[in-house]
Amino acid sequence: MKGTEQIPERYHSSRGKIQAGQVVSSGTSGSHTPRAAYIHVPFCAHKCGYCDFASLAGSDHLADRYLVALEREMAMRLSEPRPVDTIFIGGGTPTRLDASQLARLLSAVAHWFPLDAGGEWTVEANPGTLDESKVEVLHRGGVNRVSLGAQSFHRPSLKVLERNHDPEDVPKAVDWVRSAFDRWSLDLIFGVPGSTLEHWSNDLEQALALGPDHLSCYGLTFEKGTLLWKQQADGAVHAIDEDVEYAQFAYALDRLASAGLRQYEISNHARPGQECRHNLVYWSNAPYFGVGLGAARFVDRVRAINTRDLMAYLKRVEAGDDPTGPSEQLETDEFARETLMLMLRRTQLGVNRQEFQERTGVSLESVAGESLGRHIQRGNLEDDGQKVWLTRQGIFVADMVLADML
Ligand code: SF4
Repeated sequence: MKGTEQIPERYHSSRGKIQAGQVVSSGTSGSHTPRAAYIHVPFCAHKCGYCDFASLAGSDHLADRYLVALEREMAMRLSEPRPVDTIFIGGGTPTRLDASQLARLLSAVAHWFPLDAGGEWTVEANPGTLDESKVEVLHRGGVNRVSLGAQSFHRPSLKVLERNHDPEDVPKAVDWVRSAFDRWSLDLIFGVPGSTLEHWSNDLEQALALGPDHLSCYGLTFEKGTLLWKQQADGAVHAIDEDVEYAQFAYALDRLASAGLRQYEISNHARPGQECRHNLVYWSNAPYFGVGLGAARFVDRVRAINTRDLMAYLKRVEAGDDPTGPSEQLETDEFARETLMLMLRRTQLGVNRQEFQERTGVSLESVAGESLGRHIQRGNLEDDGQKVWLTRQGIFVADMVLADML
């Protein structure tokens, strides 16, 4: 829905799309049984120009059929309810469903993935698709966190991104969300063609004025095949100057830190205790369930992704067939390198040697001792003996550092 979420769309740009003072742990260390579930809802009012997610506009008439298929897929994969610590319903735009469809979805998810006490249940929402009745349905259905895709308060930037909401929709949606939920988040995108540092700082101020405890700031990426990518290829749109994008990113780190929202992942900032626990599962490379169109799951060290073709998904599930597309069993070395790369994204937690060993069965040094040493020497990483983490300098070259670990 925004600029990243499910990790296996592997190795999102460090500042691309794509959840503690006390940084919370994933709560899954050492466990092979998923304690997290992702559910995908692909419907959108309109396809945004930069979007390469499994999302589509103009298919709302298939929503009821899709919900039946989702229920079948959960029954097929799980056979019995699986208690979890975190649930994340993403998209697409889950709140594109009408109130009764949303209620049906939440009830099915609550049945198959009962949330343990203290668990986190997030739903992504778009300002233009939210209203009081849907907020009420979410709240009654057990959701306790909402992630709102604001992206920008600058009308020309929303236009370039082809978002179909207006800047003034955001405060309205935040009012509704705040009235029902203690935990909520805003997403913003920087690096938008035509934007300046001033536009971006104004976006941040408008977001901060709404009082979020969690803010995601994604750097815009021109994903192959998207409308924005084509516009760039045709010369109709030009990426902003790298120095401006760098300045926007640097400004966000400083401004958000001064507002008490500390960076805990390359693109994510939160007050202590307000981190997105579900995304922390991805960044610790812990297992998770995933159902729905294009959804990824990671169970028993097998990464699998469902088809992204809606009709194929529906027909396969309706015929009792598995809608899985590509899947891959990760060998120990590959799993360990992925784990390192993902954990390094956690700018506070970093890669804790003990956690790493417990998760992967191998030592950090045996996997990447040489690369780590090189980046520590260059000042991109810091090592206190217990953990290794990205320095501020390293955060700016994270794509290169993470690629080196692979
Ligand atoms: S709202 Fe836009 S960016 Fe989000 S999934 Fe839909 S099309 Fe993609």
